[in-house]
Amino acid sequence: MCFILRVMNILIIGSGVIGLSTAFELALAGHRVRVVTRNYEEGTSWVAGGMLAPFSEGLKGSLLNFSMDSLRLYPDFIGRLEEVSRIKLFYSRSGILRLVLNESEYHEVKKNAEAYSSAGVNWEELGGEELSRREPLLSSEPIAGFLFRDEGNVDAEKLMDALLFACENLNVKIVIDDITEIVRSGERVEEVKGYRDTYRSDFYVFTTGAWSRSLLKVPVYPVKGQILKVKGLELDKVYYSSVSYIIPKENHMLIGATSEDAGFDSRTTLEGVSSLVNGALRIIPELSKAELLGVRVGFRPATPDEAPIFDAGENFAVLTGHYRNGILWAPASANVALELVEKGKRSEYFSLFSPNRLGTF
Ligand SMILES: Cc1cc2nc3c(=O)[nH]c(=O)nc-3n(C[C@H](O)[C@H](O)[C@H](O)COP(=O)(O)OP(=O)(O)OC[C@H]3O[C@@H](n4cnc5c(N)ncnc54)[C@H](O)[C@@H]3O)c2cc1C
Repeated sequence: MCFILRVMNILIIGSGVIGLSTAFELALAGHRVRVVTRNYEEGTSWVAGGMLAPFSEGLKGSLLNFSMDSLRLYPDFIGRLEEVSRIKLFYSRSGILRLVLNESEYHEVKKNAEAYSSAGVNWEELGGEELSRREPLLSSEPIAGFLFRDEGNVDAEKLMDALLFACENLNVKIVIDDITEIVRSGERVEEVKGYRDTYRSDFYVFTTGAWSRSLLKVPVYPVKGQILKVKGLELDKVYYSSVSYIIPKENHMLIGATSEDAGFDSRTTLEGVSSLVNGALRIIPELSKAELLGVRVGFRPATPDEAPIFDAGENFAVLTGHYRNGILWAPASANVALELVEKGKRSEYFSLFSPNRLGTF
């Protein structure tokens, strides 16, 4: 059988997890990929918690389906990435313990969990006594826990490193420039203009995260998140609650995260830090002895209904608005771009997450 690949020149704008995952998959498929980014350290992806947590987050409908597609793609995505980047990633599939702190939360999480059962999701309920027997580090505040075994946890910082290395190994060219204008004629992009240069390509993918609104007509706005990096306790799973989530990595933990309507204010604040510290100590008091390694800030690309925005024209795709779940959704997002470029197939997610659902903007 003879298979002829039509090699295309692809230009990706933005180098967060969505842009780099897309660049990686397209380059691996044999295309010539360039990434233009204003600053490859600016991306929110570098500070993310790295939880792969659609059930703890209580996602429903098409967001749940998209998340489950992405969870299924994750093991192979990590495998390919480790092979090409030659970096060993921290990727844990030991599940996430969703803790509940009061009755009304209990009923909501239980109702969601029961609905997930029909989608084949594996979970276990731990009542108060069972919870304290199995989780001696927990305070007495959680009244129950739901262990979602299919959820995971990846070190987002290492994932980003690996994506950069893999792209380098696949000859993806990364160009530093701030794109200021997209020149279109109808459904086609003719070129994109930056401060330094003008770029032309066969196909364009826009993955500009929380900054998308200044370039594209999309209702995406930043939701600031502060997150702590600490060291000191060895935990074997993620503890997710409404007051904090505690996420173990290989040699440290992350404690997240604030959710602030503060534009692109990148300052870390005492208020943010104290709410994260208090939230964490309410769940695991022994964390008081942990060493604080740092505080970081990121900007979640939010949309009015918290679903991403996918759009496509003749020779371009827009993948943005990944809000709280961009790390989780990276493999599935890259996959919709790959299918579009390789097979001309418009995934159903382009209509489900079309910007048209949000009316005129
Ligand atoms: C504190 C915090 C915790 C989080 N925890 C999790 C989690 O546990 N799990 C999870 O799945 N998600 C989590 N998220 C969400 C996740 O981080 C985001 O959804 C994801 O990083 C978005 O990726 P992105 O590639 O779209 O954007 P980004 O990573 O922000 O990348 C955008 C890129 O576009 C570039 N860019 C923008 N405009 C231009 C331009 N005009 N020209 C050139 N380049 C441009 C930027 O420089 C940047 O490189 C968290 C977010 C925060 C803030």
